[in-house]
Amino acid sequence: MDSSAVYPRPMLKQLPAYQSGQPPVETPGLTPYKLASNENPYAPVPQALEAMTAAVTAEVVQRYPETTYLKLRELISQTYEVPVDDVTVGAGSLGILTGLVQTFAGTNDDGSQDEVIIPWRSFEAYPIVIRSAGAKDVQVPLRPDSTMDLEAMLAAITDRTRMIMLCTPNNPTGTIASTSALRAFIQQVPEHILVAIDAAYLEFVRHDDVDNYLELYREFPNVAVLRTFSKAHGLANMRVGYSIATPQISLPLKVVVPAFATSSVGVEAAHASLMHLDDVLANTEKVVTERARVWQAFRELGYNPPVSEANFVWLPLGELAQAFSEACDAQALSVRAFHPEGVRVSVGELEANDRVIQVATDFAPRLQR
Ligand SMILES: *Cc1c(COP(=O)(O)O)cnc(C)c1O
Repeated sequence: MDSSAVYPRPMLKQLPAYQSGQPPVETPGLTPYKLASNENPYAPVPQALEAMTAAVTAEVVQRYPETTYLKLRELISQTYEVPVDDVTVGAGSLGILTGLVQTFAGTNDDGSQDEVIIPWRSFEAYPIVIRSAGAKDVQVPLRPDSTMDLEAMLAAITDRTRMIMLCTPNNPTGTIASTSALRAFIQQVPEHILVAIDAAYLEFVRHDDVDNYLELYREFPNVAVLRTFSKAHGLANMRVGYSIATPQISLPLKVVVPAFATSSVGVEAAHASLMHLDDVLANTEKVVTERARVWQAFRELGYNPPVSEANFVWLPLGELAQAFSEACDAQALSVRAFHPEGVRVSVGELEANDRVIQVATDFAPRLQR
């Protein structure tokens, strides 16, 4: 080792690099579209933009925000009928998730690592957050139908397990676990293990047996539900997310989540957006309609997509994943390839969806049937 240089903790060698969705390749004559990051194709509600504009004054931006984000927490508390103290606001739900892992899992004094069970494939950020906290991610493969294998996740519990991540709808497959399936699952999880339900795409779910998973938080003191303003509310760049969890989780979490984690400008936008939740949900309806159209097209072409309850569709293309993604690039569309497993295609603008269906049509002869 070169003793004259700084060096990162050895654990960093084990971290996968986070691959963010890439911008589309520019092609003359084609409007480029990004279908790679599950962003909302529709603008935030106008009141959110107005609230932000109003919040950008010298007096506001030269000061730190009110650290507990009480105004937004009170609105969340009223909207979802939960105690205000059970709500923690942070820099996106990823900020909250990072805080949760740092609070509940890491490396112990004897060098042993706590274990965090995650479904896999799932949100790429999970292994990075868990490993950088010094804990160990235990990856439980999805079932062949791309849903979380809850039985296998139960079987993966050991004396070292401190936390279980559930992602529903799951990124990148769009599949969900129903409330009753999760209830049956959590009933069998020892109460000292934190169960974190990442529901980033909840507003896009149209399933009879999913409300908002808050009934599970009400039934089980070891459950935290994570939500975000990044997806349905169309405020990804504002970095506002939150968790709802009982005090045994929320109190230590609030110690770890950094003070001033997010800006009051973004929080004002989130507040205004939540005040107009009906309009936000009306926008999700448009995405859901397009999701059905895109999914149906992929299905008829033989791509075998699992039913999606999110704002994206998963194509289990295996070894063809990279080639499909390149075919999209050539048409000024960026999608997210997870080679050699599949490709995640976000539901976007009408024209973008039309074009990805055209790419899929042209590519279809390469599928093995
Ligand atoms: C997009 C996404 C989030 C949201 O992250 P933010 O930090 O709130 O922007 C969280 N979880 C999953 C699974 C996601 O796909």
